[in-house]
Amino acid sequence: MTLSFLLLTLHLCPSCESQWGFWAHRQIHRQAVYLMPAPVAEFFRAHVQELIDHSIDADNRRRIDPTEAPQHYIDLDRYGSYPFDDLPRNYDDALKKFGYERLKENGLVPWRIAAFADSLIIVFREQNREKIIYFASNLGHYVADANVPLHATENYDGQLTGQKGIHARWESLYPQKFMLPRENAYLQNGSIFIIDDPTQEAFKWSLESFLLSQQVLEIDKQIQSELSQEDLYEPPSENSSKSRKEFSQMYYEKLKEKLNQMVENRFELSVVRVASIWYSAWLKANEPNLSNLLNK
Ligand SMILES: [Zn+2]
Repeated sequence: MTLSFLLLTLHLCPSCESQWGFWAHRQIHRQAVYLMPAPVAEFFRAHVQELIDHSIDADNRRRIDPTEAPQHYIDLDRYGSYPFDDLPRNYDDALKKFGYERLKENGLVPWRIAAFADSLIIVFREQNREKIIYFASNLGHYVADANVPLHATENYDGQLTGQKGIHARWESLYPQKFMLPRENAYLQNGSIFIIDDPTQEAFKWSLESFLLSQQVLEIDKQIQSELSQEDLYEPPSENSSKSRKEFSQMYYEKLKEKLNQMVENRFELSVVRVASIWYSAWLKANEPNLSNLLNK
């Protein structure tokens, strides 16, 4: 992933800004592969490039498939207040209580994670190379999205509070400014864990994300109120045709200070959680031997 491609996707595809930037999705998958334990690590390492390349397919599908977008988030605050006990975690119970239209409108990511985790178990059992890559890479995408704070609130882009653009500032522009130039610094050794119940686990991630989303919005509001208009925005360049003002380096430096590694921490947790859900699916499939699937 080159910086120019990242910038291209940010500017030409505004709808693509509503998820971890493409760089982050790719990097999360790359690192998750290297956390996989033996013996299944062999399969994942042999297919690392495909798992990286397909990490963003789910976002690309949003442009052509209208049922795709709600699979990437859940607006928890449309179900009352934290911890949203009115919302049954079990999909069938939630469906009975709220109906499909309401669930779809408010987002489905925890249940999408659970459905894809189940499918991954099945295709591991079938030892189907193509389908393992398909379900693993899409599942990884949804797990990473569920770990983004602004994927858990109705005010996902600060649009309800005059903070529009905060979504991309947190998940695309911040990583681009502070993480991408040091991408190798984020290779780390997290410990993966076994996920027994993907629905419960995914709700745990979304609930954490919701609480963090409130901090992100608060911090952004604070910075915007502290800085003068001249300090908040980049000066307009002569040949700039953009109607939207760019936030200044000073804004981002303050954001970095106040977020106190939140973006980096969510990124690292995403890596560990993606690897954990892949590994748990393989265990539940009774640890199939995949050594005959190493080559195309
Ligand atoms: Zn997404």
